[in-house]
Amino acid sequence: MKTRSANKDKVNVITLGCSKNLVDSENIVTQLKGNEIEVTHEENGSDANVVIVNTCGFIDLAKEESINTILEYAEVKKQGGIEKLYVTGCLSQRYKDQLEEEIPEVDAYFGTMELPALLEKFEADYKHELIGQRKITTLPHYAYLKISEGCNRTCSFCAIPLMRGKHISRSIEDLVLEAKNLAKQGVKELMLIAQELTYYGLDLYKERALPKLLNALADVEGIEWIRLHYAYPSKFPLEIFDVMAARKEICNYLDIPLQHANNDVLNRMRRQITQEETRALIAEARKRVPGIAIRTTFLVGYPGETEAEFQDLCDFVADMKFERVGVFKYSHEENTIAFDVEDDVSAEDKQDRSNRLMEVQQHISLEKNEALVGKKLKVLFDRKEGGHFIGRTEFDSPEVDNEVLLDADNNYVRLGDFAEVEIIEATEYDLFAKLINE
Ligand code: SF4
Repeated sequence: MKTRSANKDKVNVITLGCSKNLVDSENIVTQLKGNEIEVTHEENGSDANVVIVNTCGFIDLAKEESINTILEYAEVKKQGGIEKLYVTGCLSQRYKDQLEEEIPEVDAYFGTMELPALLEKFEADYKHELIGQRKITTLPHYAYLKISEGCNRTCSFCAIPLMRGKHISRSIEDLVLEAKNLAKQGVKELMLIAQELTYYGLDLYKERALPKLLNALADVEGIEWIRLHYAYPSKFPLEIFDVMAARKEICNYLDIPLQHANNDVLNRMRRQITQEETRALIAEARKRVPGIAIRTTFLVGYPGETEAEFQDLCDFVADMKFERVGVFKYSHEENTIAFDVEDDVSAEDKQDRSNRLMEVQQHISLEKNEALVGKKLKVLFDRKEGGHFIGRTEFDSPEVDNEVLLDADNNYVRLGDFAEVEIIEATEYDLFAKLINE
């Protein structure tokens, strides 16, 4: 068995789930490092004697992946490969009691707000002064910035409030301090994330303060791109579009999950918005920020969703011509409002509707990309892979959106740098480009 003396632990942190969880893992890494404990994030072939698994409990597939990962490390522990195994994050928050019973090999389970208790296991303190000094685990030129935690909405299908609690905004001062420190580390692009971005400030400042925050972050030296993820459409503060139009640092990009478009389904989902209001909001966005890229996600197979309701959604997507669309299949989650009704759309129908909706979008995506051929765009280059430098425009977020490919035999760019390119070819999800040599 790997053994190390009491304060000579080496910890490897494993992250599952979304970017919000990744930020939590980065905070765990930062706090452990700040307490002089050796720590890595998802190190291959790690010789760590302690593993922390930061889990996701969002929907069935994510839960399964988290459980399999815990079981995998429980086995490593049994074989003597590690001494201690801790589990934290959403799954652990939601199912702590069951997990303790079913996987007792884990030394301790922690909820999403229990970082200080986790640190105690290492005789480490939670250090407030480290707020804003987060060590990022993403590529060095971009970082996620979580502006709030939790959600006060009551969407019927959503388990997030059960795991993350009520909405708590971080202060503008803390966020600006963190952005400055990230910029010092070389970060040029910030992805603002929250369960519900547009609620920002209502708890802390008694007003929707996202426009104010955006202006403050856009002033931070070194931050060239700021993009917005997960805005809620109802009561959307329209000044956000004005700040976006006025400040070059705010990408003309908005990720706004709409979930559905049929009014009956929206009502059953408790989304507090109608299709007509949604159309008006998107029209306003496009009017105030010409060329804005709108990313949205939809949920198909919600209980009782009829073929006609689904068709209404398809027609809406065909008509609205969003720049980016993602589709999730409904997952029946206990303790949500929707759990009380029957999960009556079959798995096959959910899959079929997901495929059909993506097909509608595929044509739109190709059309939109083809329209970019011949255009000159600013691209931030992330990596080199398979003979190409690969980057993104301001209209594309890492991991989820389109990429720009530059032939590495005939072009050279430094990773993490911006460059001007001309688009020479397009497919549904990729753009091919050449460098503009001025
Ligand atoms: S706004 Fe988002 S996080 Fe909040 S309850 Fe609705 S779906 Fe869940």
